[in-house]
Parts: sequence; structure tokens; C-alpha cells
Amino acid sequence: MTKVALVTGASRGIGRATALLLAQKGYAVGVNYLKDEVAAQQVVTEIESQGGQALALRADIADESQVLAMFTELDATLGPISALVNNAGILFQQTSIEHLTAERINKVLSTNVTGYFLCCREAVKRMAHRHGGQGGSIVNVSSAAARLGAPWEYVDYAASKGAVDTLTTGLALEVAAQGIRVNSVRPGCIYTEMHASGGEPGRVDRVKGNLPMQRGGTPEEVAEAITWLLSDAASYVTGSFIEASGGR
Ligand code: NAD
Repeated sequence: MTKVALVTGASRGIGRATALLLAQKGYAVGVNYLKDEVAAQQVVTEIESQGGQALALRADIADESQVLAMFTELDATLGPISALVNNAGILFQQTSIEHLTAERINKVLSTNVTGYFLCCREAVKRMAHRHGGQGGSIVNVSSAAARLGAPWEYVDYAASKGAVDTLTTGLALEVAAQGIRVNSVRPGCIYTEMHASGGEPGRVDRVKGNLPMQRGGTPEEVAEAITWLLSDAASYVTGSFIEASGGR
């Protein structure tokens, strides 16, 4: 039976690289996107041109009804989910606490935390043995920022990723006996559009000299770690974290 993966925020960056790699490994892939239908469709076309199977799924992961509709569509088209990559995330321009508003904090938390919870919940409903599922694997994309190892971090974003790490640890324990593994990858400074959309284009090149490996990472390097954690090669690994952060 074909394994089915859902990758959130898969139209670009780490999500895109992960969707492409999972398709190469034989997964049928749900390519979730927020707005950029053209980019999501390009990922689907690239997968299909290599003989794979994929489906673009529009949903704001912070919106419960949209998450429910996305999983229903995935069920109906690709079949039962066996792998979830919670990847979609946002950050805003770095600012001191004096300038943080409730609106901004809640926006970060609703995508980076509530969105991850909602997708985990829907995946568990389908994967858990107690619901007749075959088990499965979840990877939550966190961040090295959750460890707040540097003064250039974004404190609201970092706090949201700290919550993701607690979700990973707690859910891994909760669903281990249900045949579900839950792990995390914590990327460091990766060349994606996230920094530009957070108001800091070129950020990776600015800070890379402070990193032990003296360079930024690529989305493909992060995708390798995610894909390994999802795979049967990691069958005895749950509640674990891979630091994909150049030694930070
Ligand atoms: P990116 O900005 O290129 O990609 C994020 C994707 O998430 C975008 O396609 C965006 O549209 C999507 N998204 C945002 N909000 C969404 C929502 N509500 N619903 C659905 N999709 C939504 O950034 P990236 O670097 O590829 O980020 C992927 C993940 O990696 C994020 O969770 C991010 O926090 C994490 N991360 C990135 C870095 C880095 O240096 N790039 C470092 C650490 C962690």
C-alpha cells in the first residue's frame, strides 16, 4: 500500500524540499499551502513528472474548519495518512518586548502552535490503533530558536517553538502505544524566504559567521533529517529531536 504523507506549508522552503524528497521515497504527498496555489501546483507537477503522486491542498492550519476539510480531502483522494510533517510556520520582524502586541503574539501562536496541535489531532484520529488505524509517524519542525541560544532570536517566535517542543515530547508519550512516533527537527539558519518575510532578507549570510559550521543550511539538508525520522529506519525513535543547525 502506498504511504501517504501530508506536509504543511509545502509550496516553498523546507516544506517544499520535504515534499519532493518524500515523493522520491515513494510517498503520495499532500502539498498543503496557504495562498500560493501556483507554487503548490508546481510542486505537485514536479512530483508527477517523476512518476509520483501528489495533491495540492489549500488550508490555513490555524483555522480548525480548514484543517478538517484538508484532512477529509486527503482521505478521499490519496487515502489514509501515515506521515505528517508539521512544517508551516511564521515569524515577524524582530522587535523588543515593548513593541509586541497581543494581536502579533496571538497570530504567531495560532499558526505555529494551534495549527500544529490541530494537524496532530487529525493525524492521530486516523493513525491510532484505537481508531482502527495502522499507526504512523509525525515530525514537528521546530527551531534552534526554541533553545534561545543567541541574542538575535525572535522571542515570540522562539516561545512558539518551545511550545512545539513540549507538544512533541508529550504527544510522543501519549501515542507511543498507539503505533505513532512523534519526533522533531530543529533547523538553525536555513536559506529560505522566511527571513525575508520576517523583514530580514539576507539574515542567514549576516549571522553565519557566528555558527560553528560557518554557513547556513539548505532546505534539502533539513528535509533529509525529517524524512529519516518518518522512515522505518527510525522505527525505535520517538520523542527525539534532531538539531539541523550547523553545530549550534
Ligand atoms: P518559509 O516561509 O519559506 O515557509 C513557510 C511556509 O509556511 C510558507 O509556504 C507559508 O505560506 C506557510 N504557512 C505560513 N502560515 C501558514 C498557515 N497558517 N497555514 C498554512 N501554511 C502556512 O519558511 P521555512 O524556512 O521553509 O519554514 C519552514 C519551517 O521551518 C517553519 O516552521 C519555520 O519556523 C522552521 N524553521 C525555519 C528556519 C529557517 O532558518 N528558515 C529555522 C528554524 C526553523
